[in-house]
Amino acid sequence: MLDVCLLGTGGMMPLPGRALTSLYVRCAGRAVLIDCGEGTQTAIRSASRKFAAIDAILFTHFHADHISGLPGLLLTIANAGRTRPLDMYGPEGLAGVVGALMVIVGELPFEMVFHEFEEGCHSFSCAGLKADAFWLDHAMPCFGYRLELERRGKFDRQKARKLGVPMELWKTLQDGISAGGYSPEDVLGEPRRGISLLYATDTRPVDRIAQYGKDADLLILEGMFGLPEKQARAEESHHMMMQEAANIALEANADRLWLTHFSPATPHPEEFELILREIFPNTVIGQDGMDAVLSFKE
Ligand SMILES: [Zn+2]
Ligand SMILES: [Zn+2]
Repeated sequence: MLDVCLLGTGGMMPLPGRALTSLYVRCAGRAVLIDCGEGTQTAIRSASRKFAAIDAILFTHFHADHISGLPGLLLTIANAGRTRPLDMYGPEGLAGVVGALMVIVGELPFEMVFHEFEEGCHSFSCAGLKADAFWLDHAMPCFGYRLELERRGKFDRQKARKLGVPMELWKTLQDGISAGGYSPEDVLGEPRRGISLLYATDTRPVDRIAQYGKDADLLILEGMFGLPEKQARAEESHHMMMQEAANIALEANADRLWLTHFSPATPHPEEFELILREIFPNTVIGQDGMDAVLSFKE
């Protein structure tokens, strides 16, 4: 299962009661953080999530509302006792941006490993999850991310018996580990549908969002503005309207949609929820600390 927590829902600047947008995804005791604006530490604390469990930080882009909280967070992760390396992913220039922030951090007890993405789409894995970074359309290089917890095929008892696989090896093989000269493929069926979520903010709508979010369990998309008269403003500033996000969720055939990254000029985004549900019924206006447990479907 995946435990997903939307730590904040603000775009551009934090407001009293509204932290900047970031996501904390937990799976089997390991966590991935997407973006880290000012105040993300407080949001992690409010949501009762762990600092030391963060194995990877994924950055969408380098606008301050997505990265300026990093120096303080790194110090807190260090204080939480981390010594294992921390992986960071983001657009080209990531090591330079973080390097500049390190002037106010100093020495850390863990190594940072940087993975920089050029324009395009990239597959990788982090914290035990399959991941994709895909190019968005913002005022600077920006990526969306898809995370998937894969699911192995069903254990075929009949086949295992036929091959004479000792029963004490069944569990190991089911866990995807070779044992006693047998490989998991010998006794497992086709891989089954996993759990997937997609996160994309700070972008105009692009086809890739629905493509990567196809049949996803959860889409988390930017809903910068809700008022139709803000359309031109959204286009100029390379941001997305709530209605555009709902249309993407419909096209992707996602299970559900959470909206986030609301403009400070939108104090009550929940006012748009009913209108948006006419486009995509399972739309939820995000709230700070909102969480969900996503499980495998039979
Ligand atoms: Zn932003
Ligand atoms: Zn931005």
